[in-house]
Amino acid sequence: MEPKNVWESYTDKQLKDMHAFNDAYRAFLSASKTERECVDNIVNDIEKAGYVELPKLIQSGKKLKKGDKVYAVNMNKNVVMFLIGSEPMEKGMNILGAHIDSPRLDLKQNPLYEEKGLALLDTHYYGGIKKYQWVTLPLALHGVIVKKDGTTAEISLGEEEDDPVFFISDILIHLAADQMSKTAAKAVEGEALNIICGNQPIKIEKKTAAASKTTARTTSKAKAADKKDEEEKAKEGVKAGVLAILKDMYGVDEEDFLSAEIEVVPAGKAREAGFDRSMIMSYGQDDRVCAYGSYEAMLAVKNVKRTACCILVDKEEIGSVGATGMQSRFFENIVAEVMNLAGSYSELALRRCLANSLMLSSDVSAGYDPNYAACFETKNTCYLGCGMVINKYTGSRGKSGSNDASAEFMAYIRKVLDGEKVIFQTAELGKVDQGGGGTIAYILAQYGMNVIDSGVAVLDMHAPWEVTSKADVYETYRGYIAFLNGEGM
Ligand code: MN
Ligand code: MN
Repeated sequence: MEPKNVWESYTDKQLKDMHAFNDAYRAFLSASKTERECVDNIVNDIEKAGYVELPKLIQSGKKLKKGDKVYAVNMNKNVVMFLIGSEPMEKGMNILGAHIDSPRLDLKQNPLYEEKGLALLDTHYYGGIKKYQWVTLPLALHGVIVKKDGTTAEISLGEEEDDPVFFISDILIHLAADQMSKTAAKAVEGEALNIICGNQPIKIEKKTAAASKTTARTTSKAKAADKKDEEEKAKEGVKAGVLAILKDMYGVDEEDFLSAEIEVVPAGKAREAGFDRSMIMSYGQDDRVCAYGSYEAMLAVKNVKRTACCILVDKEEIGSVGATGMQSRFFENIVAEVMNLAGSYSELALRRCLANSLMLSSDVSAGYDPNYAACFETKNTCYLGCGMVINKYTGSRGKSGSNDASAEFMAYIRKVLDGEKVIFQTAELGKVDQGGGGTIAYILAQYGMNVIDSGVAVLDMHAPWEVTSKADVYETYRGYIAFLNGEGM
């Protein structure tokens, strides 16, 4: 069995639609570099399409009926949306799932320090990264600083043409004798991932004669405190300078870093790649390529028989843990709320709804890389340009950690995709015993529902810049639409 090529199958009209879809996808990627930014942008889009926030509906006392659209947000980092179908929810939903967190560097809680005239920010990496890939790149800071009074300063610095950028240094090749003899895992260590963020010491105002007259009236205790402050600034002038700028820009003090979530990501927009502009190179395509296609598919379908649902989660890259990860009860709680508003809630009806649901758990797959051919088994690998990827199983070392969908569900998926002429390929993640990976699939499978992994082939997965084929991005979106319209097994 040879994979089919999507490019060759498209008409001129389809090619045009595909490029337009990818233009919008690129704009989404450029504007959505954190899970919070993803949720913001998604909520803006779906509200325009008529989705209503669940708490508002509950408050209004309105009931949900066929064709209604509802969504809920969890802690600004996780969002779920529903399009109510004509069939009772107890019969199950068609669910699309993907994650909106991506590998990156997070600032530590006490990050800022100065060393020999440079100000630095200490980080702890998030998710699986090759640390050596993150040095000598223009980096941007995105996130929030929440102050004790509950107000939030939103940070996005490094993306605009005239914004400053940030960076992590690497040792010059001339002095890299020790580094070059290390393994790639050790060449750049986690604790060396410090962001250089300043070099100019703060200017300390010399006290004028008039000023010293005023200070003469202040207590000796206050004078001592002033002096100490001045000495500190002189000693760590660059750090003091950075803090003064932060105070000016965001109204925050050093202590406010304690309640901040600041993510360090590659600076710059998503780009078209290749002479033929056939690919997209961007930060964060794992797994925003699937998240984008999934929620756009929700906006594309109407009059569904089975209730359509899309859940976009946080924390996949660190094990789907926490209140905003897939393992959280958030999803189950919201399904219960939605069934309640649809007039069909009972504990048993909820269990039935979840068990009777069908799910595409979408995540990126490792596209065949000609530069590293030895890592792949070519018959069971996905290729850029060959369409939506279906992974019956993922996992590593004997399928460990995999969901492994049933043959019956796989047959249903084939029927649904073939019915809409969606081009798909099947794959596993690389060669047996070369490595592997997990997804959120097994978590929802715990309800007894049929779940299968699917997604898009990616080159350079988890690197600062990841690459997809536009044809696959669009074909996968078509696959999601076909799945949401599916009538069930
Ligand atoms: Mn992923
Ligand atoms: Mn990943």
